[in-house]
Amino acid sequence: MSQLIDGKALAAKMREQMADRVQELEKKGVTPGLAVVLVGEDPASRVYVTMKEKACAATGIYSVEHKLAAETTQQELLALVDQLNNDEKIDGILVQLPLPAHIDEGCILNAISPLKDVDGFHPFSVGCLATGNPTFRSCTPYGIMKMLESIPYDLNGKEVVVVGRSNIVGKPVALMCLAENATVTICHSRTKDLEGHVGRADVVIAAVGIPEMIKGSWIKEGAVVIDVGINRVADKKLVGDVEFDAAAARASYITPVPGGVGPMTITMLLFNTIQSASQRVAK
Ligand code: NDP
Repeated sequence: MSQLIDGKALAAKMREQMADRVQELEKKGVTPGLAVVLVGEDPASRVYVTMKEKACAATGIYSVEHKLAAETTQQELLALVDQLNNDEKIDGILVQLPLPAHIDEGCILNAISPLKDVDGFHPFSVGCLATGNPTFRSCTPYGIMKMLESIPYDLNGKEVVVVGRSNIVGKPVALMCLAENATVTICHSRTKDLEGHVGRADVVIAAVGIPEMIKGSWIKEGAVVIDVGINRVADKKLVGDVEFDAAAARASYITPVPGGVGPMTITMLLFNTIQSASQRVAK
């Protein structure tokens, strides 16, 4: 039977340490600051933004929300990003996605200063990660790496199979595992013999968005399973991309859903914001 990698507990421990770090920065006259930009009324985005603001407050990070109407133009949003890029109190800028269809997301993300790109989505940050000199790492994959660090497990030489190739999870987590000297395979919707790939993996990272599509019987005995998926099924129940009970019977370590990768994502946003503020002290 496997052991759980408890993301909620790890996130709580990291947030305590971060609150101490914020106090140290305060003594040096620096309060880490995060600007959150929300365009429109998407209810899920509203929930995420509120969670991020509460987490900032609990850690001592100054956060300011810019709530813009759904009909805000791209130019207006770019002007706000420019203003935040030049605001000395702001160390991190987060533009909540998705943006309304009339706004080019790539154009907005590219306009955020790489020095304040705490979401790690700017091509500069992605390029730095790809070339082995990471600046800000995107939050969900970075949280996954912290979870892997929290168990007695060395990625060096291990077979890692990432299922999903999105820019926000699959690709960056693959690069991060590669940087830890794992041998990495990225699977996606056109992959042939997914079961075969997963069955060879020492570490499976599932980021697909299909409830329980990775069957427990595919998991190699003793493998580590990281389930990024958050899928709402009947009775509002949340399940991951992995068939949990059957996978847990074979894995050495496994993340639960909920309470696994989810709580780590916001934690790493705070972490990146504090890292950015620390650079302000270093100047
Ligand atoms: P995307 O929809 O952007 O990407 C899904 C990936 O899964 C794609 O690369 C797609 O392949 C691949 N895929 C789809 N069907 C199959 C299949 N049958 N076999 C193999 N691969 C398949 O999703 P995200 O990366 O944004 O998110 C993935 C999951 O993680 C979602 O459940 C999301 O809610 C969750 N998530 C959780 C977070 C957290 O904080 N815990 C944060 C972010 C996401 P292709 O590229 O070929 O289409």
